[in-house]
Amino acid sequence: MKILVTGSFGMVGHAIQMVVENDEKLKAKYEWVFISSKDGDLKDPVQAKAIFDKHKPSHVIHLAARVGGLFSNLRYNLDFFRENMAINDNVLNFSFQNNVQKVVSCLSTCIFPDKTSYPIDETMIHNGPPHVSNFGYAYAKRMIDVLNQGYKVQHGKNYTSIIPTNVFGPHDNFDIQNGHVIPGLMHKTYLAKKNGEPLTVWGSGEPLRQFIYSLDLAKLIIWVTFNYEQTEPIILSVSPKDEISIKDAVNMVTKSMDFQNKIIFDTSKSDGQYKKTASNLKLMKLLPDFQFTPIDKAIKDTCDWFVQNYETARK
Ligand code: NAP
Ligand code: GDP
Repeated sequence: MKILVTGSFGMVGHAIQMVVENDEKLKAKYEWVFISSKDGDLKDPVQAKAIFDKHKPSHVIHLAARVGGLFSNLRYNLDFFRENMAINDNVLNFSFQNNVQKVVSCLSTCIFPDKTSYPIDETMIHNGPPHVSNFGYAYAKRMIDVLNQGYKVQHGKNYTSIIPTNVFGPHDNFDIQNGHVIPGLMHKTYLAKKNGEPLTVWGSGEPLRQFIYSLDLAKLIIWVTFNYEQTEPIILSVSPKDEISIKDAVNMVTKSMDFQNKIIFDTSKSDGQYKKTASNLKLMKLLPDFQFTPIDKAIKDTCDWFVQNYETARK
């Protein structure tokens, strides 16, 4: 079996590479092909076709996407929609054309309806409009589920998707303007400490999030690839009990980086969606013994990685 991983030099892709590298069985049993945008632009059908013709994978873990935090989504909703629609349509079409057995694509809990009951589960993706802040990304990601259903109904294919909550870890995008909250906070804390300035957190700090460490997510994605047979998506998340506030995340980052200066909450900036609490019951029924890395350890390890790799980290 040959496993092609798209977007594999991003955060989640690096984590998958690390899990594979440290697992002799995974290395011996499967041939792994890790590609990045340097191997071709997946928005372009000609380049996407060439990648699939060259590698002829039996399985695809599809991570490539235009990804960004709240403030990038607010600015570029149209671009998020168009780029992700093109990438996903090409990857699924050329997987089908090349008779790929299994494709695992990524959705996200931020694509769920804004007005909903909690906890959200896998059956609720299409139940209403997403939060207005990221409608472009959300609708494009929802269409992966539509494509997967289409390939199943029309062609009997086994293409599925996973729904991670907010992810963080080494090799994240630490760009302050465009990245997600945890890498953004780490970068801002690093600079504030270096310059002896206060740390400015955007928004009230009150919104709630379930965070998952990229290395935990990588292990779960590999498990899904070889063990999960449904077309319907599966949420990959810590329990709703482990949901924390942005303020809690700020405290963990500042503690990990030994930051003692003042912390300011800039409430003129958007809070985004207040919460998107997701149920992990489906996952826990199938994989009850999975151990998530405690969040304070995962944040400390990621802060240490960022400081050690400051010069080369994506920022
Ligand atoms: P990431 O670090 O930004 O990695 C995504 C990778 O996709 C990038 O490394 C990029 O490759 C590649 N890519 C983007 N556009 C491409 C194109 N047109 N052609 C080929 N490759 C392209 O993102 P991530 O956080 O690892 O996310 C991985 C997946 O998880 C995505 O599908 C994302 O939607 C999903 N997800 C992420 C989060 C999160 O909190 N980060 C939460 C839920 C779901 P280059 O680096 O070579 O440009
Ligand atoms: P989301 O979970 O999809 O909304 O995306 P983010 O990872 O960007 O998290 C956004 C939440 O973190 C919002 O409540 C923001 O107000 C808050 N936040 C606080 N500081 C920052 C920051 O420096 N960057 C980002 N992206 N969000 C921040």
